[in-house]
Amino acid sequence: MYSRVQPEQCIACGLCQLRAPELFDYDAVGIAYYRLDHNQGTTPIPTEQLAAFKQAYRDCPTGAIKRQSKPFSVEK
Ligand code: SF4
Repeated sequence: MYSRVQPEQCIACGLCQLRAPELFDYDAVGIAYYRLDHNQGTTPIPTEQLAAFKQAYRDCPTGAIKRQSKPFSVEK
């Protein structure tokens, strides 16, 4: 499973970093990004982090956290 944050949808609420601090962090203005590959979405979520990821994914109030089974396109 791969993930990235759609920054236009992120409202900088902080929940994903609380739920999955190994996976999500914030830029200077509080917009979240997927830590493991600087939001490229090309590094899979480690198996031991999947439960934390699911909590963050579920709790994000805007649906800004994206997930898919294949790597995201680097260009996007
Ligand atoms: S939970 Fe969603 S809206 Fe809140 S900081 Fe994370 S990605 Fe942004």
